[in-house]
Amino acid sequence: MVSINKVLLFLSNRCNLSCSYCFVSTKDEARLSTKQISIFIKWFLEQNCHTDYRELDFFGGEPFLELDLLQMSIPFFREQNRDKKSQIHTIPVNGTILTEEMLRFSKEQNLSVSISLDGDRTSNAGRKFKQGGDSFDIIWGNMQKFREFMGCPPQIKMTVTPDNVKDLFANVNFLFEEGFYNVYPNPAHIKVKWAKSDVDVYLNEFKKILQLYIIRRSRKQPIEIAPIDALWRKKAEDLVMEDFSCGYGTQPMLHPDGNIYICEHSFSEQKYWKDLFCVGSIVNDSVHIDFEKMRKLADYNIFTQFDLRNKNHPLAPIFSKMACCSFTENNTFLNKEDIENALDMYLLSSDYVLKSYERLKQKYSENNDFSDDLIPPFLRSV
Ligand code: SF4
Repeated sequence: MVSINKVLLFLSNRCNLSCSYCFVSTKDEARLSTKQISIFIKWFLEQNCHTDYRELDFFGGEPFLELDLLQMSIPFFREQNRDKKSQIHTIPVNGTILTEEMLRFSKEQNLSVSISLDGDRTSNAGRKFKQGGDSFDIIWGNMQKFREFMGCPPQIKMTVTPDNVKDLFANVNFLFEEGFYNVYPNPAHIKVKWAKSDVDVYLNEFKKILQLYIIRRSRKQPIEIAPIDALWRKKAEDLVMEDFSCGYGTQPMLHPDGNIYICEHSFSEQKYWKDLFCVGSIVNDSVHIDFEKMRKLADYNIFTQFDLRNKNHPLAPIFSKMACCSFTENNTFLNKEDIENALDMYLLSSDYVLKSYERLKQKYSENNDFSDDLIPPFLRSV
């Protein structure tokens, strides 16, 4: 029997920004109703669940434009979920809208919020307002406001593209220097193609970030970097797909069109994606799911779909469901080499993290303390 421990509410496609890499369809404005939400949550709570918690996730559009839906769904979920712990996943907001009411609600409900900012003003230049104009100053101001009110910085979600990848380390360091020590650098897909040379730059920047992570951890300075946190101190054999926060194939996602999908990419304009990833709908106030289709989609394996050179990498199984590495925005598949390049970003960077921890563990056990000799020269002044 299928076990469901998390679901996602795609609140609406409304957003005041127009990011160059955004794949969310904005053709018709669509917004979930409170009725759809309560039907879906009630259905979720009746499903088989093998974990000791149930999780509710959100996606948009800009979730803070739908504050009333957040204010309705989160307490409703918590009240109704009586037999398990309730978990609300980090809410991804674009950082341009932040009122006292949003801050108070986030604090009262103990919510984790991630604000999107791709780095300094230049690296964030692809995130313009729909009406035109740069978003950097407004987001920067709201990041400070959020930190003051909550007493700790929000997670900063950075979308990495071939355009800004060369400054990735500098951008992470810039955020740390300003006290934003919780970051999530996330490579963009769908509208973005990664050439081998861009992947090499990414991996080089990632290695520098990893060194910085190790140093700050060793000095007991605050630092949180997803997905390094997920990998740090885990053995390769203990890793699972969930460590990388993708609910593909296992997490029903409710869309305002009344359909239930199994991959975030169905929120794009492409009918192909919608048909491929639709597993059910709300009909006559009840949820209908094709569990057989859901199970088949969950079994997807990119390495059997394509004959890829990285198929024998030891970490390949935990990234095997990353269908998103293989598609273009026009519904077609990337060529084999582009898919391999995109996967290399995950496989090789994760490998660096696991190996670095092993090396460090050895050093620690030899010296019983962190030594500044571990710090590479280019990081000594950081
Ligand atoms: S903030 Fe998010 S939803 Fe809005 S345009 Fe940018 S990527 Fe799309």
